[in-house]
Amino acid sequence: MATSFIRHLENTLAEIEADGLYKRERLIAGPQGGRIRIATQDGGREAINLCANNYLGLANHPDIVAEAKRGLDEFGFGMASVRFICGAQTLHRQLEQAIARYLGKDDAILFAACFDANGGVFEPLLGAEDAIISDSLNHASIIDGVRLCKAARYRYTNGDMNELEDRLKEADTAGARFKLIVTDGVFSMDGYVADLPSICALAERYGALVLVDDCHATGHLGDKGKGTPSLTGVDQKVDIITGTLGKSLGGAMGGFVAAAQPVIDLLRQRARPYLFSNSLAPAVAAGSLKALEIAEAADDRRQTLQSHTKRFRAGLQDAGFELLQGTTPIIPVMLHEARRAQDMAAALDERGVYVAGFFFPVVPKGKARIRTQLSAALTDDDIDFAVSAFKDAGKAVGVI
Ligand SMILES: *Cc1c(COP(=O)(O)O)cnc(C)c1O
Repeated sequence: MATSFIRHLENTLAEIEADGLYKRERLIAGPQGGRIRIATQDGGREAINLCANNYLGLANHPDIVAEAKRGLDEFGFGMASVRFICGAQTLHRQLEQAIARYLGKDDAILFAACFDANGGVFEPLLGAEDAIISDSLNHASIIDGVRLCKAARYRYTNGDMNELEDRLKEADTAGARFKLIVTDGVFSMDGYVADLPSICALAERYGALVLVDDCHATGHLGDKGKGTPSLTGVDQKVDIITGTLGKSLGGAMGGFVAAAQPVIDLLRQRARPYLFSNSLAPAVAAGSLKALEIAEAADDRRQTLQSHTKRFRAGLQDAGFELLQGTTPIIPVMLHEARRAQDMAAALDERGVYVAGFFFPVVPKGKARIRTQLSAALTDDDIDFAVSAFKDAGKAVGVI
């Protein structure tokens, strides 16, 4: 390859490093869980994991693993095809129907990831005559999906309902045919739940549709884990839900859109990441079906998750840490400066607690944090251990 091109890449990498933004991946030497084995030169060590999206603790559930193995035995390893040619099995259709029933929609359509679901959902449904009105903190995949669509784009500051209303008026003034409001159900960096009742009320007043990306809620928030529309009492009013199989619902991979029949039917005809990409692996589809069944019945796990969330939040608050307020299992510990977040993460790592520091550009400058996420796979003892480690590390780093 041209040496000038390689040199250019090396310079870019050096800049990322110099800005303190280089992401180094750590390796786990075993299954995902409440306690994990961190890979090290000398055989690994155990840590309490506070940074996975394993909310219900299903990522290594024995019944899901067994079902995935059965799927592998009965349906083979791979599909080697896109859906519309010869890539669908009864398993895939069962999974779609199970998701649709769970979320109270006519039908659902599977994608390889929710990143693809969000990448593919807008362009087939809306055209240049239409408008998409999007929350400023929406996930990267929504931003990309909206960019791929010809509809006019409007943005409102995170959770600002006055601005949302202004944008709806602007879209009307511009003569929009259809308007679609798009929001994350839970904003992953802050753990805030979207104000869906207000959003749905504005949607009704201005004749707009509502799409909720519920990746950080499906399975663990709301009645039977049906997500933020259920949690906030608007399940009948949200038109389109996008979600993932890669978080609460077993944590393997895969995404979906659930909505009215014509929406799903048109996506099957036109959504590019669906049409031109491989189907989910049979083992993943089989395991995810089981995960969905377990999640729906997992009031005990949701109860454990909620009690851990309260216990951990109270422990950190009593210790004097600055937390963002909220009720979801995402608890951000504010450290403000990137350096401090990194030092704190390293100090926690030494004390057997696995966390991730987030700083610019993932969160705004001056808002660096450690985002902790609770899991039903943890025990009360794990939570107490983590609180002690936070106190000890916080003192060592000079945060508390
Ligand atoms: C994780 C996440 C996604 C991406 O989901 P994948 O299935 O991992 O691609 C999309 N949107 C939101 C809000 C997410 O949190």
